Amino acid sequence: MSIKESDQNPVIVWLRRDLRLTDNPALHIAVESGKPLILLYVQESNAGRAFGSAANVWLHHSLTSLIANIEAKGGQLILRRGEAASILDEVIAQTGADEVHWNRRYEGWARDIDEVIKTDLKTRGIKAESHKSNLLIEPWEVATKTGGFYKVFTPFWRAAKNLFTVDAPLPTPQALACVDDVPSDDLKTWGFLPTTPDWGSKMLAYHTPGEAGAMERLTDFLDGPVESYAEQRDNPANATGTSKLAPHMAYGEISPRQVWVTAKQSEVDTEAFLRQIGWREFSYTLLFYNPELASQNYKPAFDKFVWDSDEDKVEAWRRGQTGYPFVDAGMRELWQTGWQHNRVRMVCASFLIKHLLTDWRVGEAWYWDTLLEADPASNAASWQWVAGSGADAAPYFRIFNPFSQGEKFDKAGDYVRKYVPELKDLPNKYLNQPWTAPAHVLAQAGVKLGETYPRPIVDHKQCRERALAAYKDSRA
Ligand SMILES: Cc1cc2nc3c(=O)[nH]c(=O)nc-3n(C[C@H](O)[C@H](O)[C@H](O)COP(=O)(O)OP(=O)(O)OC[C@H]3O[C@@H](n4cnc5c(N)ncnc54)[C@H](O)[C@@H]3O)c2cc1C
Repeated sequence: MSIKESDQNPVIVWLRRDLRLTDNPALHIAVESGKPLILLYVQESNAGRAFGSAANVWLHHSLTSLIANIEAKGGQLILRRGEAASILDEVIAQTGADEVHWNRRYEGWARDIDEVIKTDLKTRGIKAESHKSNLLIEPWEVATKTGGFYKVFTPFWRAAKNLFTVDAPLPTPQALACVDDVPSDDLKTWGFLPTTPDWGSKMLAYHTPGEAGAMERLTDFLDGPVESYAEQRDNPANATGTSKLAPHMAYGEISPRQVWVTAKQSEVDTEAFLRQIGWREFSYTLLFYNPELASQNYKPAFDKFVWDSDEDKVEAWRRGQTGYPFVDAGMRELWQTGWQHNRVRMVCASFLIKHLLTDWRVGEAWYWDTLLEADPASNAASWQWVAGSGADAAPYFRIFNPFSQGEKFDKAGDYVRKYVPELKDLPNKYLNQPWTAPAHVLAQAGVKLGETYPRPIVDHKQCRERALAAYKDSRA
């Protein structure tokens, strides 16, 4: 219906990291109001942190899928670029909308923007409401006995689990009666997709962004792989060992409530898997109470740490050319697919921070740019966890051994052989430490160290000692 045809003022639903129609509280309440709808997505020019390159690829496809789903219900998604406050003002002025709904977000900069907008709209007599949608429990809904937030995961999760009542997910709206003459950008003009070369399509070969793809991913996972999750989640060669739900959750194509309720209905034990959803919740609590989680040490004592990194070596790490096959396989998996196995993430992050003595923020920024699922809470909290500067963090002296981790978690060598094919003919015994292989074994496998595959860029033992000494100094 056009703006003029409507005898009611429209209601705006401002969509952000909640790109779904099902179990979307902001959308649900707007639809229930019976008023004409304006479904709006703003590419915010004043966002505190822009999405990375891989995230933009996912976002493009996620929005494409959302647009199709909205159109199938008779509606339309309005796309605009600029400052959210000005865009909302513009749309309100154009349409006479007198109500705005959105689902909450938790980054410090985003909360600041939302708070200003809400106050301003209310002052002008426009109803503005935010809703709980992207977490099972709001950070302020769970507190320690002394009223603070939990800094350790296990007690957090014990308390949080007992507090939340997880209602059934909200239904998908039957129809979307949208105002149809609100100007909108064409998504194609936003330039989210790389063209020369088109590395995005290759990444998407592994995924189907959008609500349907998210639900399919969940049900496929619950339909078998979840049963062996506890033991398989550390095996990087097993492509179905974990759910790969992270990118779907990062853009809100599926809600944690949908994941929780569907998993709970499963006949098999899903506890180990749901505990990981708990880590996501915990990371968001940390972000909420530490808005600068991606840029400041959670533990201020870490500010004294003296980093000593070498850009050439960091670049070798980024490109998967460190000479440590398990690390290189991981960094190439990330580069090629936009995803990386959790065990490998820990090893690669530890290598950068502890072997190369590089500030964790350098790694956090690389993952922010290259991970399809780059998430403001989980990425920052995880990097700080590995560095030892975070809450409930791995102690700094726990330094992952870059070759024995491969020998332990990729026993058959399938993962390394997939991403480091130049070593594929090496026997397992030498696969993670090619520099220990006798000359004839290397020759037989067609490996020329320093030519076809790099020699280790650093010495493991020396690096371990250097990292421990640096840590000791920073505490002195
Ligand atoms: C250095 C580093 C960076 C990371 N960056 C991100 C990131 O940007 N985005 C992200 O979602 N996760 C991040 N993680 C956490 C974790 O590695 C991924 O969530 C997980 O590997 C995603 O794969 P999956 O969906 O198959 O997970 P599954 O093992 O199937 O877990 C199910 C879901 O639980 C959540 N989850 C699992 N592990 C964690 C965790 N440790 N912390 C928080 N949530 C978790 C995710 O939403 C995940 O989709 C990072 C971990 C490390 C060590």
